[in-house]
Amino acid sequence: MTQTAERHEFQAEVKQLLDLMVHSLYSDKDVFLRELVSNASDALDKRRFEQVTKPELAGEAELQIKLAIDAEARTLSIIDNGIGMTRDEVVKNIGTIARSGTKEFLAQLAAAKATDAPGLIGQFGVGFYSAFMVADEITLVTRRLGTDTATRWHSTGDGSYTLADDTRAEVGTTVTLKLKPADPEHGLHDYATESILSTVVKRYSDFVAYPIQLAKADGDGEPLNSMKAIWDRPKAEVTEEEYQEFYRHVSHDWAPPLRTIPVRMEGTFEAYALMYLPTKAPFDLYNPEMKRGLQLYVKRVFVMDECKEILPTYLRFVRGVVDAHDLSLNVSREILQKDRQIQLIKKQLVKKVLGTLDEMKRDKPDDYRTFWTAFGPVLKEGLAGWDVPDKDKLLDLVVTGSTKDAAALVSFADYVGRMKDGQDAIYYLTGPSPDAVARSPLLERFTKAGYEVLLFADPIDELWLEQAPTFGDKRLVSIARGDIELGTDEERKAEAAKHDERKAELGDLLAALRAAVQDEVKDVRLSTRLTSSASCLVADADDMTPRMQRMMAQLGQAMPKVKPVLEINGDHPLVGKLRVLHLENKDDPRLGWCAQVLLGQAHLADAGELPAPEAYNQAVAELMLRAVP
Ligand code: ADP
Repeated sequence: MTQTAERHEFQAEVKQLLDLMVHSLYSDKDVFLRELVSNASDALDKRRFEQVTKPELAGEAELQIKLAIDAEARTLSIIDNGIGMTRDEVVKNIGTIARSGTKEFLAQLAAAKATDAPGLIGQFGVGFYSAFMVADEITLVTRRLGTDTATRWHSTGDGSYTLADDTRAEVGTTVTLKLKPADPEHGLHDYATESILSTVVKRYSDFVAYPIQLAKADGDGEPLNSMKAIWDRPKAEVTEEEYQEFYRHVSHDWAPPLRTIPVRMEGTFEAYALMYLPTKAPFDLYNPEMKRGLQLYVKRVFVMDECKEILPTYLRFVRGVVDAHDLSLNVSREILQKDRQIQLIKKQLVKKVLGTLDEMKRDKPDDYRTFWTAFGPVLKEGLAGWDVPDKDKLLDLVVTGSTKDAAALVSFADYVGRMKDGQDAIYYLTGPSPDAVARSPLLERFTKAGYEVLLFADPIDELWLEQAPTFGDKRLVSIARGDIELGTDEERKAEAAKHDERKAELGDLLAALRAAVQDEVKDVRLSTRLTSSASCLVADADDMTPRMQRMMAQLGQAMPKVKPVLEINGDHPLVGKLRVLHLENKDDPRLGWCAQVLLGQAHLADAGELPAPEAYNQAVAELMLRAVP
């Protein structure tokens, strides 16, 4: 008995999505069936699992998915005897989008090109709503496992839906679509036709582990799908299309994967995995609530989605499944974290992924560039973390721009292979963006002397480089810190003599400049690294770099403020003139203003912004007044 229905408004975000669906973004409307079948399959997984953990709920029913057509009424029903939903679950699942980042996602979608939109939508997984591409009206009747009553949900996709109590003979869910008129030219096929349904199921849902059958008056036919679990089949038997289709199923990503990584572990324990490296970064890669981890199965029975325990966070972009045959179905996340077998599987999977990346880096540089652009910063999180066992392998995988070619991707091995004679360290510089770091005045002397410097511009770089890693027997040395000596012993001696001479000459001037900016810097020193710029900022050998300090501040870490060191180029013509000015009148106000401007310029070159713009502006204003007659 259906009671009077209760009207509900969709959440604003859902309305927006529905609108997108109705004015369909997918050119391939067939995918709605994949989405609904996938929901049905998930519901069957959940029922099977709940029956294992709560044996009192177990029944005789064969778990299956049926498709029922009424050609006259032009309806298509997708019927499952899965876990079903309670009324509250219907409201929560079909009517709101709880996922964090929805707003950002919609903004991104609005800005995306029409051709990118399907990929974005797929990543977000708006599965159920995609049915409004092919239907004017949708009715869902569902009964939760362990309950007696059912709920009826109905909507015409116009901003609201109704809910009513209902009955359903068995546990499960029926989704009935009132189909729009077919329009094959625009990808809208006649889904009230058996042959079309059969083709679409084969194409998109062949691996679904439950039989998908056409419901017929004279009994149900053969399953339309093969139901083969793709991950435990030998690689040679699986076609590339099958691998790709399965990828779409687990990832909701429209673009084909960059790499497919099947893994068989047969020995002391038995486990199979099928992992994928995506081509593009998902929109929520840096959102802590991103879907991550592999799907976990035990002997083909679904156990959990997003099993994070099986891969380290720095590989969170890897998608796929793992089927651990010897695990208990009742396994909890707490157990997984300690389980020895899971730890062994994790080790194998990490080894396999890093090995695949190493091979790609060597043999397919273009693919590796694609990978690195999307996921390099995430991989580097592994280098920043404590207690990561594979740091050496991760270091081998790092590539970045360099002063030899900012656009090329140079590895530490490449760098070491072409180091200058006598060079004993790997020089690097970090900065806020690739452009800014490539233009840094700190590079001047290195470039002039023919030393290559590696350039890093991801925020994470500060964090792992700060830990002073070594590559083989070579130290990684920041050129933004402390004193660096270049060249042969002889060259260094000559350099030092010249430096001492300059220091004696300019000592008084430096003291005067220091007095003018002493609140903002730790010291004003004569630089050994500049050739054309007048000034730059560096950190003392044991201090954090200015960028690192800013990052910690952004992370809300209270840090004692460590002032930077301002270095002055003794060869710069301005410095020569300031020296004369200072000799003539050590109280000339222009000395202080110039000190402010030199400091400001150094800040701008370092970070593109000024910590104290007022003092800088005032100094520039005073100097301009005197410069213009
Ligand atoms: P997604 O599948 O990406 O979570 P959907 O919009 O397709 O997004 O579905 C939302 C939620 O509704 C699902 O996560 C599930 O909890 C529930 N749901 C959808 N279809 C069914 C079904 N046939 N049986 C049980 N629950 C379902």
